[in-house]
Amino acid sequence: MELIVLKFGGTSVADAGRIQRAARRAINYKQQGFNVVMVVSAMGKTTDKLIALAQEITDDPPRRELDMLLTTGEQVSISLMAMAINAAGHEAISLTGGQVGLITDAVHTKARIQNIHADRINEELGRGRIVIVAGFQGVDESGEITTLGRGASDTTAVALAAVLKANRCEIYTDVDGIYTTDPRIVSEARKIDMISYDEMLELASLGAGVMHSRAIEFGKKYGVDIHVRSSFTDTLGTIITREVEKMEHIVVSGAAVKKDLVQFVLPGLPNHPGVVAGIFAKLANHVVIVDDIIQTVTDGGTASTSFTVEYSDLSECKVVVEEIRKEYNLKEVICTDPVAKVSVVGVGMRSHTGVALKMFQALADAKVNINAITTSEIKISCIIDPADADKALREVHAAFELDKEK
Ligand code: ASP
Ligand code: MG
Repeated sequence: MELIVLKFGGTSVADAGRIQRAARRAINYKQQGFNVVMVVSAMGKTTDKLIALAQEITDDPPRRELDMLLTTGEQVSISLMAMAINAAGHEAISLTGGQVGLITDAVHTKARIQNIHADRINEELGRGRIVIVAGFQGVDESGEITTLGRGASDTTAVALAAVLKANRCEIYTDVDGIYTTDPRIVSEARKIDMISYDEMLELASLGAGVMHSRAIEFGKKYGVDIHVRSSFTDTLGTIITREVEKMEHIVVSGAAVKKDLVQFVLPGLPNHPGVVAGIFAKLANHVVIVDDIIQTVTDGGTASTSFTVEYSDLSECKVVVEEIRKEYNLKEVICTDPVAKVSVVGVGMRSHTGVALKMFQALADAKVNINAITTSEIKISCIIDPADADKALREVHAAFELDKEK
């Protein structure tokens, strides 16, 4: 029997009607002969509301308790989903992360999946039930409830699809697929039919908010094709899959902008082996995710290291950076005003030249100043003023003709 994993995001289960609609999709697949596992997010903006509520009580809620609170959101939607399926005359059962044996490490609010014991799910599927799993949550080895980071129901879904060796994994959301860029900023953005894991990973980490990055990592590692599609229509969305040859012909497949960044600059560091490793070990210990690392050695022989972090990690990062400042006796550490990052991504960059030039020229023509540049094999990013972010994105999107059918 073929197995399908269906994941419904918050907007797709925002009210009773939408829950019933999602339930019908699951039932349809069941009637077509599939074994069906559903992964469900909290209803609408529930998670945001719960966080706001916690913040009304305290600025700094204990992360364990935050996890305890946030996981209730998904528990509401899985139980309602099971009721909806039951009411429509089919068998279903809702299960929490702990009940399906989704084991994570102990890092509250940012836990990583370590293991999934699929026995319970398989047992329930064997009884002919539709299994509804709470997204975004797990338990650590000692049974403490954890969450996997905002937006991580996607990750629950793809990880389950991997473990259960599902034949299909569909992510139902409020957009009809992955676009060449954010259509709210660039109206010429087009839906992409097929994109590689690597491109999608770059786009996700660059602020293309459709999918949780770790979900794509799981997909890549275990070869799960991920179909991102709208829960409001029946049109096909975007398939995220392994790289195939024809993708190489498209030089740039997407562009993205990320606005909520700050840049730290640490000048005057000793230029010795182990210094940078020490700095990033500290940041990693505090679970601060850093990006766009640039190091240069100045005339005086000292090193200047800079990196960007998300605004939400700012206060945590400041603490660590202050430790580093003391340790190396630095005169100053600089934390910039917010910065933005505009990027283009494409596996075709590996085999085409002139891509960076085209991007820099487009920004120059738009009179956008570039403060820093970072690249990977399939990505070019420029750090710019947030005031220029939308304009920069539009110019770059046009320069690479992303608005035209390929
Ligand atoms: N409800 C969680 C969030 O809003 C997880 C998810 O929706 O993927 O972040
Ligand atoms: Mg999401």
